[in-house]
Amino acid sequence: MTCTPFKITAPDGTEVRGFYCGPGGRAKRCKCGVRMQFQCDWIIRKDADGKVTKRCDKALCVNCTTKPATNKDLCPDHVREWDLMKAKRLAVGETLK
Ligand SMILES: [Zn+2]
Ligand SMILES: [Zn+2]
Repeated sequence: MTCTPFKITAPDGTEVRGFYCGPGGRAKRCKCGVRMQFQCDWIIRKDADGKVTKRCDKALCVNCTTKPATNKDLCPDHVREWDLMKAKRLAVGETLK
């Protein structure tokens, strides 16, 4: 998930700057202290219909994100899980997408 910077001007002329990271997103900092530009897209939970109900959403900067695919970002913890998952899938002969 990519966070885009925004700037809005309030009716009283005050400029408000921030990052927009999807619904309810708020500008946060990556754990290394750099302002976040990405969020971890790792899916933590899905409901019975396969709809994603919870994502990791960890704040990531450009130095700490890993992009396994276009528009996907993973935090260091989930990169490890992703690697394990890939290894397991390869072990059973599944084709990676
Ligand atoms: Zn960082
Ligand atoms: Zn994560």
